[in-house]
Amino acid sequence: MKHILLIATGGTIASKHTGTGLSPQISGEELLSYIPEAQKTCQIDVIQPFSLDSTNVSWQQWLLLSELIQKNYDFYDGFVLCHGTDTMAYTSAALSYLVMNSKKPIIITGAQKPIDLPDTDARTNLTDSIRFAADDRSHDVCIVFGGSVIAGTRAKKEKTKSYNAFSSINYPPIAVIQDRRIIFYIDDKGQNKKEVVFSDRLGGKVFLYRLIPGSDGEILDILIDRYDALIIESFGVGGIPDYGDGSIKAAIDRWISAGKIVIMATQVTNEGSDMSVYEVGHAVKNIYDLPESYDMTLEAVIAKTMWILGKTKDRKEFREIFYTTVNHDLLFLPE
Ligand code: ASP
Repeated sequence: MKHILLIATGGTIASKHTGTGLSPQISGEELLSYIPEAQKTCQIDVIQPFSLDSTNVSWQQWLLLSELIQKNYDFYDGFVLCHGTDTMAYTSAALSYLVMNSKKPIIITGAQKPIDLPDTDARTNLTDSIRFAADDRSHDVCIVFGGSVIAGTRAKKEKTKSYNAFSSINYPPIAVIQDRRIIFYIDDKGQNKKEVVFSDRLGGKVFLYRLIPGSDGEILDILIDRYDALIIESFGVGGIPDYGDGSIKAAIDRWISAGKIVIMATQVTNEGSDMSVYEVGHAVKNIYDLPESYDMTLEAVIAKTMWILGKTKDRKEFREIFYTTVNHDLLFLPE
């Protein structure tokens, strides 16, 4: 019988109405009591490091979770984390970097409705997650939600209310789970021969600057001393606007001169960036040789940046690690 550790952290799945809105109230043990049949197929222990709406989950909790997984790694066949959906894609990306090359599955799930409601998706999601974590073919960090299994670096919450809230971006789902049957689309366990690697540091000083038509680059000067990295969420495949004053390019110049990391990403969810396509991107890319997101999700770019900053601030080393594929996060690279 497989031995699974259920890590309960709060979220809607564990929430109750308090009179002032939903908040996490249901313990991990109670969550499990709603799916008694799951305990017939595997042995499940429960641990509850915190109980938060995932709006309040930050990189400190990501480190806590990876530390917890590391401490328990040798004693379990797999891990199932119950987590709020709002920042689940950030946590799944962060854990993909903090716990690399895991032969054991680390499954993250949650729900759009609390587990004690009759029409909830929580019982199915939790049952599916435990089933998937106990499957011999499972590995690495994945989200199991609404019948889809999504690589931890490829998930995005795209719906605020529907049960199929998460999409797999620029990558197929790893598997689907239909009527309790797991159908694998990507069955690649054992192909990555590397040993599991845990990281225990993240650099949280990352600023995301989303461009809008008319953005002012000078605002970035206020931030320069407070942050190590600037991620510019640009338009389309990527470009830096010039509204006549060249203020955004000048700001990039100042960040680079100050030894900071500047990364280009796109606000378009699907198909990724490619700054070489248009003159507005090409010129900036050529001058500063900025790393860009390509097909990585924004959540993955943010988590990966924090993870790399935990190791180095050197621009060359940063770039090398940034363009290394981890848990299926990056396929598209320039020729
Ligand atoms: N606000 C909740 C959370 O992220 C939403 C959810 O879990 O679905 O914790």
